[in-house]
Amino acid sequence: MLIQISKFKYQSDKSKFKNLLKFWIFIFGFLLGCQQKPYYKETQFLMGTVVEIVAQDKQAFDLAFAEIKRIEKLLNKFDRQSEISLLNKQGSLKVSPDTFFVIKRSKEFSQLTDGAFDITVAPLVDLWKESINKKRLPAQDKIRASKTRVGFQNLLLDEKNLTVKFTKMGMEIDLGGIAKGYAVDCAIRKLKNSGIKSCLISAGGHIYALGKKGNVAWRVGIQHPRKTQKMAGYLNIANQAVATSGDYQQYFLDKGRRYSHIIEPQTGYPVNNGIVSVTVVADDCLTADALSTSIFVLGQEKGLELAQRFKNVGVRIITEKILEDAPDSQ
Ligand code: AMP
Ligand code: MG
Repeated sequence: MLIQISKFKYQSDKSKFKNLLKFWIFIFGFLLGCQQKPYYKETQFLMGTVVEIVAQDKQAFDLAFAEIKRIEKLLNKFDRQSEISLLNKQGSLKVSPDTFFVIKRSKEFSQLTDGAFDITVAPLVDLWKESINKKRLPAQDKIRASKTRVGFQNLLLDEKNLTVKFTKMGMEIDLGGIAKGYAVDCAIRKLKNSGIKSCLISAGGHIYALGKKGNVAWRVGIQHPRKTQKMAGYLNIANQAVATSGDYQQYFLDKGRRYSHIIEPQTGYPVNNGIVSVTVVADDCLTADALSTSIFVLGQEKGLELAQRFKNVGVRIITEKILEDAPDSQ
């Protein structure tokens, strides 16, 4: 050390200046390297909801939005040209591998939940959607009639030929409880294949966090079920999905009871088990999406039993009782 000091002591002014310059160039380069590339946010209305993407490159937005649009074209039952619309109209169809996969996974969730999660609930979903719009209960006989058209056992899948068939007249399917999660997974796969390592996609609260945001995990909020401007909590996630099912997205109130868009197929009525919202963290967004809807319908006890059958799954349930007991703690 001493030797070095004495060496500098005898340097000429010119070489002193050169060394100083080198030092500052090194510091400047180091600081530049530490600074992360900025993130940008883009939103589009797709799959009946707001899709929000946070990424660093234009390529990420282009790839992800294009992929979500591709899935929407296949699965949107409100688009008369979609495979789901054609299937609902014809009662049988040879479908794309994407559509087949989502229907197959849906049926697996129906089997796992004893029919609590059931995409053939479509006639009841439509009936209650109309009710929510009119803020009026549907007639009992309409509920009964719609219920007879529901039942995942009547959904036949032929994996070899990629065909889907309804064995009962008047059946329809609705992928609202699972499709957004699948679309998010597909978009993330595209990004990964293109070498993109950091991005957040949220399709109406169906989220996947790819990598980290810079050096830290992505921080996502859980919507407070009763206070629109408030969060019920935050989660730090990296390479994980989060989905929330709640009774606050679409609903109407009648004589103090809330009627939401999530239906209990067994009764034909909107779920009324005291659950207000269910948030699921999982390795992929389809699982988080289907599980959050399933747990919402199953209720706390059976719902948590179901969640335990999955690896790397976390669940947060908010009930009416939790909100009553501690309205401000959430
Ligand atoms: P999510 O917000 O993911 O819980 O999905 C809610 C949507 O799933 C509803 O708007 C319906 O389209 C659909 N849905 C409602 N009830 C059920 C059910 N019991 N099983 C499967 N999908 C359902
Ligand atoms: Mg869902």
